[in-house]
Amino acid sequence: MRGTSSRRFPHSVVPGRLVPAAFALLAGLLYLFFGLRWHDSNVFWLTGALLSGVAGYVILRLLAELAALRRLEDGIHAAREGLLEPAPVGPFGWTSVGRLIPEYNTTITTLRQMFRTVEECQGRFLNERNRSNTILQSLPGALLSVSDDLRVSIANRQADALFGVEPGLLIGANLFELLDVNERDRELLRDAFLYKRVIRNQEIALNVGGGKRYFSLNLSFYNDEENDMGGVLILQDITEYRQLMESVATREKLVAMGQLAAGVAHELNTPLGNILGYAQLLDRGAAEHPKLGEYARIIADETQRCSRVVQELLDYARKDKCSGETCDLNQLAQELIDTFINCRLKRYRIEIALELGTGPLIAEGACGQFDIVLSNLLANAIDALDKTPSPRIVVSTWAEDSYACIAIADNGPGVPPDIRNRLFDPFFSTKDVGKGSGLGLSISQAIVTKRGGFIAYDADYRDGARFVIRLPAVDLERAKL
Ligand code: ADP
Repeated sequence: MRGTSSRRFPHSVVPGRLVPAAFALLAGLLYLFFGLRWHDSNVFWLTGALLSGVAGYVILRLLAELAALRRLEDGIHAAREGLLEPAPVGPFGWTSVGRLIPEYNTTITTLRQMFRTVEECQGRFLNERNRSNTILQSLPGALLSVSDDLRVSIANRQADALFGVEPGLLIGANLFELLDVNERDRELLRDAFLYKRVIRNQEIALNVGGGKRYFSLNLSFYNDEENDMGGVLILQDITEYRQLMESVATREKLVAMGQLAAGVAHELNTPLGNILGYAQLLDRGAAEHPKLGEYARIIADETQRCSRVVQELLDYARKDKCSGETCDLNQLAQELIDTFINCRLKRYRIEIALELGTGPLIAEGACGQFDIVLSNLLANAIDALDKTPSPRIVVSTWAEDSYACIAIADNGPGVPPDIRNRLFDPFFSTKDVGKGSGLGLSISQAIVTKRGGFIAYDADYRDGARFVIRLPAVDLERAKL
């Protein structure tokens, strides 16, 4: 309400009012001029007095109108400058302009009231805007508001951070160019925008910052000023929550597996003891048949091996505390390969290479448990080499920082990238029914991680598949102290 012009109020009324006064004055002057000749007449004095009275009144009235006009003009001028104050009427209420002043004051008071209301509304609007902006910025997820043509009109700080752009740069961007999603999620969003379908807590995968992350998506719609439909999209990162849920599920499966293993191991113990007993009897009675004696010893050795594995399974299921046992990985690898060569590798004509690090390589943990792990890996490698023309397995060991490491590589087909993240899931198997239980790698992982180690598929290996195990190494020098 601030005026820019300093133009004064037009005095259009003034000349009109001055004309009769000028006439009256002129008539008085003419009368005086001619009256000097006939000044002894009474008519002269009477007419003179009358004319002077009329002229005086007109002049007085004009001056009063002018003064009232000035007040009104000052009031209007002040109003233009933003000062909505009533103009004082003073002693000019009897003039024509003076009678307008109360009217003007009523208008000014109403205006002042209206401005006050507008100011209050404006204040409330600003407060509301600040409040919603604070809510918008403090949302735990990224918020994008998109117009009917799918262009971003509002984006909060989290959205800028999610897409790695400076504040304000998302405005105007096309939503579908912004979201790097797979075909399924793209279709879901396309349908939702097409049929204005609300989405609640839908999980979608988004490629952001060079990696894949998971989000909970919420989408709702509103009518904008042009009566077009706009959409509000909230993306909340649930990657960590998802991983947590997965690990809880894995743990639950492992616990169930432990119980199962304990049951099976317990049941196997008795028949294994029987086999061992009969093998020993066979050995004793096979003096004349040395070949039979040799077979009996192999049966006894393998049965003892099975018993050891069963015992380890029982220990695993009992969740016993670390016993303080240690295992020389070089020796274990050597023994294991000897057994496998005797039993299976020769049969499958698989070439085996041992690339062992020098000296003993001692890891924390019982050899029996690592035996399970390495046997699983070797068994998988043998299976994978089924159709490979010149099958080959390489077992290597080495020391790395505070870890004793062992790797088993084969020149089979390798593991396709899309299933690599499921390899260690319990019951995940690509083998035919009856051939694979899908438990080998998950049991191996449980054993290794329980010892504070890691087992991983080597994604950089190009000649087939390679699994690497890193186990906390025993520092022999310190152990001696
Ligand atoms: P199983 O051997 O009973 O299927 P595992 O947990 O030992 O269960 O292995 C899970 C899956 O990992 C296998 O079914 C196979 O698809 C894959 N796998 C494991 N080792 C190899 C390997 N050396 N080469 C190719 N695929 C492998």
